[in-house]
Amino acid sequence: MGDLIDGKEVSQHIRGEVTTEVDKLKKETGITPGLAAVLVGENPASEIYVRNKRKACEKVGIYSEEYKLPTETPENELLSLIDKLNRNEKIHSILVQLPLPDQIDSTKILRSVSPLKDVDGFHPENVGLLIEGNPRFVSCTPNGIIKMLDFYNIEIKGKEAVVVGRSNIVGKPTAILLLHRHATVTICHSRTKPLDEVTRRADILVAAIGRPKFVTADMVKEGVVVIDVGINRNSEGKLIGDVDFENVKEKASYITPVPGGVGPMTISMLLWNTLESAKMRATKS
Ligand code: NDP
Repeated sequence: MGDLIDGKEVSQHIRGEVTTEVDKLKKETGITPGLAAVLVGENPASEIYVRNKRKACEKVGIYSEEYKLPTETPENELLSLIDKLNRNEKIHSILVQLPLPDQIDSTKILRSVSPLKDVDGFHPENVGLLIEGNPRFVSCTPNGIIKMLDFYNIEIKGKEAVVVGRSNIVGKPTAILLLHRHATVTICHSRTKPLDEVTRRADILVAAIGRPKFVTADMVKEGVVVIDVGINRNSEGKLIGDVDFENVKEKASYITPVPGGVGPMTISMLLWNTLESAKMRATKS
């Protein structure tokens, strides 16, 4: 059986570092990093997520504000809130929780967030900088994946990396980061044929699909490193990943559990990016 990549443990280290750095920044510059989370509509999963983010901020000394808007909020109202947050000196990072209700154009909203406060790295300017190899903010989940691999001294350079999923939030930026670290990267999606032939080539396999237990033991090779990004709920409401953990772990050299793998890392990287954003402001003022 492979070793467990413990996202909680790696997170503890990162949050410890963030706490120290936040403290130092406050003492040296008087700046307290600040994060604003915006949630539109009633989405229990998003509410839990936002609550966890608020608690995590408190623990590391980051100031946070939370905006909960009703489902029927018109687009222009959300745009005007973001405009205010863009100009608010206390706020260094703005997080708009997705998905947004149908009457709101998500692309327009994500583009309205100042690229200097876009700690999720979704703004086209930040996407461009990432592809160019000079990232300002790297989206939190992909950044967390790389941090976990580094923490366990897992070599990326020269490895065959396969990312299943091509979303702008996870799949694409993860593939770019692995490429920058000199992996040979293949991105798979719902039209990849035959998928299992590609996944069996992987030394590092990232599953970001959104389908419970989709990656089975016959789809991976012996010794593979498996990063499971998926968050799904089974019929009993229990969280499960995109990987058939029980069987795949027997072939893997390293594997992330769900929960306790990528999830905690995403929030830690959000704290990290908020701190980075505040530091950038400090050097400019
Ligand atoms: P999306 O739904 O945006 O993307 C899913 C991707 O999986 C798509 O590219 C899709 O292909 C691909 N896919 C779907 N079915 C198949 C299939 N049968 N074979 C191959 N590829 C397939 O999801 P996200 O990227 O936003 O999220 C993925 C998962 O990660 C979800 O479970 C989400 O909840 C979780 N997540 C977890 C986070 C964390 O912190 N742990 C953070 C963000 C997300 P195509 O493009 O062709 O449709």
